[in-house]
Amino acid sequence: MENKGILIYVEREGGRVHPICYELLGKGRDLADKTDSKVSCAVLGSGITETAQELVAYGADTVYVYDDESLATFDSLAHKQNLVSLISEVQPAIVMFGSTLTGKALAPRVATAVEAGLTSNCTALELQEDGSLLQVRPAFTGNFLAHVKTSSDITMVTVRYRALEAGQKDEGRKGEIVKKGVEKVDSGVKVLGKGEAKPASIAGADIVVCAGRGLRNADDFELVQQLADALGGVVGATRPLVDDGWISKDHQVGFSGTIVKPKLYVGVGVSGSPQHLAGIRDSGTIVAINSDPSVALFRIADYAVVGDLYQVIPQMIELLKKK
Ligand SMILES: Cc1cc2nc3c(=O)[nH]c(=O)nc-3n(C[C@H](O)[C@H](O)[C@H](O)COP(=O)(O)OP(=O)(O)OC[C@H]3O[C@@H](n4cnc5c(N)ncnc54)[C@H](O)[C@@H]3O)c2cc1C
Repeated sequence: MENKGILIYVEREGGRVHPICYELLGKGRDLADKTDSKVSCAVLGSGITETAQELVAYGADTVYVYDDESLATFDSLAHKQNLVSLISEVQPAIVMFGSTLTGKALAPRVATAVEAGLTSNCTALELQEDGSLLQVRPAFTGNFLAHVKTSSDITMVTVRYRALEAGQKDEGRKGEIVKKGVEKVDSGVKVLGKGEAKPASIAGADIVVCAGRGLRNADDFELVQQLADALGGVVGATRPLVDDGWISKDHQVGFSGTIVKPKLYVGVGVSGSPQHLAGIRDSGTIVAINSDPSVALFRIADYAVVGDLYQVIPQMIELLKKK
């Protein structure tokens, strides 16, 4: 890596910095210290200036703030245009995004515009002896780890939420906060109305209760929700239930859905296909409830309950309520 520093795109969610940005900052700080370079952040939005000091406390040397009413709603083309200009000005060696819906919408657009190589969905970033950045990402439903090196001047990555450790906060850290003029872009996006989105947020959940095709119908998610509530967790689902329209895609756990890393994963009526297991491998404790003792999920489960979910779940809820 040439000594041109690291730039982190700071995503905002629900009026706050998305927690993945603190993880990117933790890794960015580590890489910058090892290469004697700097970490900068780009934060775009409206009414966000206070965010900058927080980013400095988490390790940023410089925070570029694009604060304008026109950026109040995320618009990938407007964010792209301002980022592309910043990249040509700052010339970072590495640009990092979260592997979130926003990061996935933005990073490829920026990478194409600045002709940078982009590795998506990384789970680790390692510095090589020659100073280059090795980007590690799962491939073939998580059965292999691809090790990627980029030959372009700029290396761009999106990194999975909860794959890296967040940096330590230091209120006394000093950094530079630079207010930038905003380039306005008429992307054709019209905001027709606003509503409160309630994303499932399974990626950041500590407890996920995941339903599979063992459920008889969509209404039975109520039972799964009751178990999740009793445990203080959120509801996930396997892909067939999402494909059948029983629950929205943001609940889908697995390789083509969301990779989760909860402290507790409970799979009910889930067989444990390779695509599903690829999304839960890093869970803390895995509990599986299935009427078939031969299913793959039992092989990786810490606790295996052989039984009918319609009998087991109510008993679990009753026990949890007593506690
Ligand atoms: C490219 C690709 C990407 C994919 N990505 C994903 C992904 O991201 N996530 C994902 O989940 N899948 C994904 N899939 C689908 C995957 O291959 C499987 O089809 C899916 O994971 C199976 O879901 P399931 O375990 O709910 O269903 P099944 O495999 O049908 O298992 C249902 C289980 O329920 C049990 N059961 C039935 N009745 C009861 C009962 N009353 N009590 C207890 N247990 C009961 C059965 O014994 C069975 O084990 C993908 C597939 C492809 C091709």
